[in-house]
Amino acid sequence: MSLLVVGTVAFDILETPYGKTGRIVGGSGTYICYSASYFGLETRLVAVIGDDFPNEVIEDLQKRGVKTDGLQIKEGEKSFFWQGRYHDNMNKRDTLVTDLNVLADFDPIIPDTYQNADYVMLGNLTPTVQQQVIERLHQRPKLIAMDTMNFWMDHTPDELNQVLKMIDVLIINDEEARQLSGEYLLVNAARKIQEMGPKYLVIKKGEHGALLFHEESIFFAPALPLEQVFDPTGAGDTFAGGFMGYIAKTDDYSFDNMKRAIIYGSALASFCVEKFGTERLAELHKEELKARVQQFIDLMNVEL
Ligand code: AMP
Repeated sequence: MSLLVVGTVAFDILETPYGKTGRIVGGSGTYICYSASYFGLETRLVAVIGDDFPNEVIEDLQKRGVKTDGLQIKEGEKSFFWQGRYHDNMNKRDTLVTDLNVLADFDPIIPDTYQNADYVMLGNLTPTVQQQVIERLHQRPKLIAMDTMNFWMDHTPDELNQVLKMIDVLIINDEEARQLSGEYLLVNAARKIQEMGPKYLVIKKGEHGALLFHEESIFFAPALPLEQVFDPTGAGDTFAGGFMGYIAKTDDYSFDNMKRAIIYGSALASFCVEKFGTERLAELHKEELKARVQQFIDLMNVEL
């Protein structure tokens, strides 16, 4: 099975209570690809970078089975840049800088080799680009999932509402669900969001786990209680990459299989936060992932 991914491939500067980084590699597309690559499927990346982006990172992704024919490199231009700051409560963060740079006029080209993708993960970026990617696929994929954030709700709400009508699964955090729906209680927010388009909704609640909504059904999975959260950046994208990676690998998008996909996404995200940026994901072994999935099973196991 194949998974088509669109997202930002970027530079970040991050500040957490544990320190501040220089310019490091980040971006929604980067995290999604690192995460999905653990399932051994063909991941096809659509993104844009400037000529300032390190080639080693692209080569590292390629080694993991990520196809980069759809990665555009703009000579003389700068990659997307984001700077954020976290406080002691790492569920909240301040965006200090968002420089769209190459993203401002990104025209996503879908190479012929990417057509007939079985599954699609639209990572967080301009809603218009997310829509263009869907429209440029000759055949509708089996399942289209999408992430977004408050930045796009504030700046391009009409474009966002339009793309929401075209997707199957929306993956957002609790604050974003509240903002998008105008409802405080998540059950009510979920109902409203499902009326806006996506039949499935995943609401991530950071250290408090994740909820999956579909019609009248709800599933909840906890997050692993961790001793230290070093840097939460990319945890949401890593979750999404794991969620869709598992669904694509198993080629099963039933509600029951989505529950398993949530556990895999949560397990991968729990590694992401252990170090700054993509560092921990880049060094992760499959055996570690397997052991952590087992920790989730043990955490939830109860006999009644
Ligand atoms: P997450 O922590 O999962 O929300 O993702 C963090 C990543 O998203 C960072 O590496 C940023 O480069 C990227 N990012 C931040 N703001 C945006 C935005 N407005 N659009 C797309 N990607 C973004």
